[in-house]
Amino acid sequence: MSDFANESVSAIESTLNDVDRALERLRSGTYRTCQVCHAPIDESDLIANPLLASCPAHPELA
Ligand SMILES: [Zn+2]
Repeated sequence: MSDFANESVSAIESTLNDVDRALERLRSGTYRTCQVCHAPIDESDLIANPLLASCPAHPELA
């Protein structure tokens, strides 16, 4: 595979992992809980990015 194809696969797999984690958080009832500070994430932030795992205050994990 070309480098471009390899990078595309990595990006897709990373997105799939994010989707899996979001679904798992939905199932376990922690979907709106920030994974860093455990505060509830704003609904408007989750509407903007449904895969958000932490508040936008922690951009390194967004
Ligand atoms: Zn937080």
